[in-house]
Amino acid sequence: MLNLVNVKKEYVIDDDKTLALKGISLKFPDVQFTSVLGPSGCGKTTLLNCIGGLDKLTSGEIEIDGRSLNDMSEAELDSYRNNYIGFVFQNCYLIPQLSVLDNIKVALAVQNYTEEEIETKSLNALIKVGLENEKNKKPNQISGGQAQRIAIARSIVTDPKIILADEPTGALDSETSIEIMDLLKEISKDHLVIMVTHNEELAKRYSDRIITLKDGLLVEDKIVDEKEIDEKQAKPLKKSRLSFKMSFLLAFKNIFSRKVKTVLTAVANSFGMIGIGFFLAINLGFANYSKNLSSSTASSLPVVVTAYNQQNQKEKFDEKNASIAYPDKDEIYPSLSLDNQYSFTYNNISPKYLAYLNSLKEQGILREYITSYGNDYNFNLTTMFPSSIKGDVKGDYKVVNTNIRSYSYYADSALLPDNIFHVLYGNMDQYDLITENKTIPGTNEKSHFPRSENEVVLVVNKYNALSFDILKQLGFYNWNDKSVDVENKSLASKVEPITFDKVLGKEYKVFTNDEMFVIDKEEEIVDGNKYKRQVKQYKRRNIDQNFYNNNGTSLKIVGIIRPKQTSPFSILSPSLCYLPSLQDKLMNANKNSELTKTIPDNLIFKRPDNVKKEDENVATNELFINELNAIINEYFASESKILPTSKLNNIFDRYFYYYSAIDEYNYRYGRLFYEAKICSAKLIDDELLGKNLSEQATLQAEIDELISLATESYATEDYKPLYNKIVTLLAYMNAYSEMSALVLFPVDLPSRAILLAKLDEFNDLNNNGIQNKNLAVDEKEKVSYVKIDANSLIQEVGEMITLVSVILVIFAVISLTVSSAMTALLTSNNVLERKKEIGLLRSLGTRKKDVLRIFEIEAISIGFLGGLIGSLLTYLLSFPLNRMINSTTLSYYKLGAICCFTWWHAVIIISASILLGFIASLIPALNGSKKNPVESLRSE
Ligand code: ADP
Ligand code: MG
Repeated sequence: MLNLVNVKKEYVIDDDKTLALKGISLKFPDVQFTSVLGPSGCGKTTLLNCIGGLDKLTSGEIEIDGRSLNDMSEAELDSYRNNYIGFVFQNCYLIPQLSVLDNIKVALAVQNYTEEEIETKSLNALIKVGLENEKNKKPNQISGGQAQRIAIARSIVTDPKIILADEPTGALDSETSIEIMDLLKEISKDHLVIMVTHNEELAKRYSDRIITLKDGLLVEDKIVDEKEIDEKQAKPLKKSRLSFKMSFLLAFKNIFSRKVKTVLTAVANSFGMIGIGFFLAINLGFANYSKNLSSSTASSLPVVVTAYNQQNQKEKFDEKNASIAYPDKDEIYPSLSLDNQYSFTYNNISPKYLAYLNSLKEQGILREYITSYGNDYNFNLTTMFPSSIKGDVKGDYKVVNTNIRSYSYYADSALLPDNIFHVLYGNMDQYDLITENKTIPGTNEKSHFPRSENEVVLVVNKYNALSFDILKQLGFYNWNDKSVDVENKSLASKVEPITFDKVLGKEYKVFTNDEMFVIDKEEEIVDGNKYKRQVKQYKRRNIDQNFYNNNGTSLKIVGIIRPKQTSPFSILSPSLCYLPSLQDKLMNANKNSELTKTIPDNLIFKRPDNVKKEDENVATNELFINELNAIINEYFASESKILPTSKLNNIFDRYFYYYSAIDEYNYRYGRLFYEAKICSAKLIDDELLGKNLSEQATLQAEIDELISLATESYATEDYKPLYNKIVTLLAYMNAYSEMSALVLFPVDLPSRAILLAKLDEFNDLNNNGIQNKNLAVDEKEKVSYVKIDANSLIQEVGEMITLVSVILVIFAVISLTVSSAMTALLTSNNVLERKKEIGLLRSLGTRKKDVLRIFEIEAISIGFLGGLIGSLLTYLLSFPLNRMINSTTLSYYKLGAICCFTWWHAVIIISASILLGFIASLIPALNGSKKNPVESLRSE
């Protein structure tokens, strides 16, 4: 039972009031076909909308089954529309993207029906209007009359009590109009049908009742056909909500119907996402790079402890030459040290230091350390020194003092000090041949990197400079030139830069020991064991023109090389460098030379000077063993892990001396090692080299063997095996202080910093008031180290990456703004275009929320698509990008796959894109859902 009591409706537009309904009172039974007639603008549509709960009354009341619409909440009105009302509009309002069947299903999707119920009810409604065969067609594939019949099917499918039809035949020809009227008549048998029409004739023919309105007032209410009215039951107001399935269907059908716009927006969206993608990928790539660098360069950039250690070396250049880095003049320059020329400190790499390193190993800070013995070989390098200041007149041949230390002074890396004539090592890619294309004087050959053992290169630093001392030693200056000549411009003797043509082709000779040394003296000595020893002494030859020409191996400078600008980690120090093949050849020759073989034989066992009275009759050998045993036992008894070298040295000092092989004196036994080194003698057994004498068991075994050899030799009177054992042990122990370098490998980059701190700590051990006096480090025992800083490399790359990241972020922000704006625009455009659809959905009883959800689903889907495209493009673009990066000068950094896009980046990007789509579309979608359904439907 529908009851209208004094219904008034007033529209206000800009203070302009229109009273569309001026107080209408009407009663409707549950079943009736009512036609509403009246001129256009008299308020017919307004009346229907008010009855349908689409519009609110200004005053008066509409009661349905005893409930007033005025009292209903928004949600109740939505349910009311869905449960009670079926709307039929003049222009049908079918949703164009949906099939005929789906258009009907929309009305049911608001209620809580099962899938099958929806299907059968919809089909039944279609059968009722006779269009079951058209169910799969789209609205634009059927005629106007069919469309209206479908609209009617949609209006009855929810089994409402009231059908409100607003000029359903207004757009149809008379024939189809009759079909529609027949249909409505049929429906009116068990529904209240209220139909607005202009066609008075049709109204009269079909209606049970005709109501005529004029200017918002009821002017006539005529019953045509009185009917028996049996009241029906009130319907419960079931809650209405659009099913998720239908929301998705509506959203996706719409997306697909707008393919081009959708894809364009998604692509625009993806640009922002590519920005984010690259940002993430490059940051990850860099993190990986740093991590790799951290472990790989921790080994390639070790900490080096050298026997000779340069301290704060700074170079001063001849003012005229200025200190331009990477000069392009064909000259090399002498440089001077500000400090003492030989300002190297000597590191005492003591067993205490090695024990400390072992403890760092146990703590997991130090991976390992490698001991380097060597590079102090003297290959008797000889060359012609100029006799005049200007260096153009030939002078004498002299042996070069190759033990002079070369050093370098790159601002950002401390390099290994080395002597001025050494083997060419490291990666040659890191050097420029600055004499490229120059012809080597006296030949037709072009300058090149050394190819044979007879070719050498001069290494200069980035200023094309070498220390004046080195240049002088290498025979580029007169023996009598002084450093003051380098500095003082006004002197006539001023040292000039050396032109490339004076360097290229300069000749040297290296002589093996056998060529260089001749026997001077032979002696027989009776040693402390009364054993007869043959000793020999050698001397260096005087080199004259004839000897020079007919002996030795010739070397020629074939090029000058300089570190590349992009190679801060080139490790050769300025010097004259030869190929490893020359080193092998000379070392082998020298090891087997007569002089070298003599050296270990010149270690002489002696009876100590002041033997105690009670020991006067004890054999020297026995005394030695006893003393040795006492020290070793004491060492093993103590907790100490530090070899008692000073005590051992003391014993050896008292029991041995060295009869020099190349000098006319007797020395303390330690001299043996110096001479052995410069003559390339190999004193340490291979077997012993692999062993760690600071381990108790190893030391014990060696000492045991020594003692048994001593006993044996005493019996057999053959001391040779004992002396050999002593020499190798002594060499091993003394190599600690004679070794040329220790190379320390930290576990990884972070522990490198800890390692450096720990090495500094060692030097501070005396200041820290430590309890264990044995561990205290005195001034002489301090050890300084050389470090090459991997951090600076990481920092350099890091700064570059930060710059790239900033650019990417700016790019991403701009494109995100643009794509958000596009999404917002598309959504509001979408809302505008689908006003009708919104109005229709609301008239079917869907809630505002449901409408909002449809638009959000669309925005989120586009966001998802944008994220997907963005991820895919980032991934695909990362390949050419990485290739590009690694083909530029950046390749020096070996960045590898610096743009490293992984699956979780895609997850982040897609999520971000979805979120962005959601946020950007929220306001236009809200606007759309809030639209007054009446206005949505009215706008034509
Ligand atoms: P009918 O359907 O009989 O042609 P309507 O019910 O559509 O007439 O309109 C009645 C009167 O109310 C008209 O004068 C119309 O201009 C006015 N009107 C209808 N809807 C609105 C609205 N949303 N805002 C302002 N005026 C309106
Ligand atoms: Mg109207």
